Amino acid sequence: MRFRKDEPPGWLRRWCPDEHVQSVAEITPEHLQSLGIHALLLDLDNTITPWRSHKVPLEVAEWIKRMQAAGFKLCFVSNTRNLGRLQWLSEQLGIPYARGPMKPRRTMLRRALEMLDVEPQQTAIVGDQLFTDVWGGNRLGIYTIWVHPMHPREFIGTKVSRQVERWLLKRLEPYRVDK
Ligand SMILES: [Mg+2]
Repeated sequence: MRFRKDEPPGWLRRWCPDEHVQSVAEITPEHLQSLGIHALLLDLDNTITPWRSHKVPLEVAEWIKRMQAAGFKLCFVSNTRNLGRLQWLSEQLGIPYARGPMKPRRTMLRRALEMLDVEPQQTAIVGDQLFTDVWGGNRLGIYTIWVHPMHPREFIGTKVSRQVERWLLKRLEPYRVDK
């Protein structure tokens, strides 16, 4: 599902993703390349793995390989406190990571862009939260892809923001591009 991102009022636009997908597996290299995008900043929890988990579902692992094979530059941008898990997944998947203050702060995303040596307009951020991943990406002019959370289990604070996300999604509904 895509959104006409320049149409919502300013207060709402900051949380409007460019696209909403059910799983990362829906994102194709061809589609992103047609938009001039060849780098991806990836959230970890509930985007690539379930919350606090080391397990990458098979379809996600295959998607990562497909993007890498298509020449995409990937980098993790995660707020996780468990650095050991992030490092382990980084090594297993061959994806570097950037660290920094919590999204939607821009520092970590800027570091990731520097590491990959790409411009915001060549980059998409993929994440499951409007208030961290999408907002942070929008602040830097990065293409934002909001992915449905992989698993209902998550941080208690996130459960609260989910209710606000649902409310926002209703407000964004009129700006949906119908297929
Ligand atoms: Mg997440």
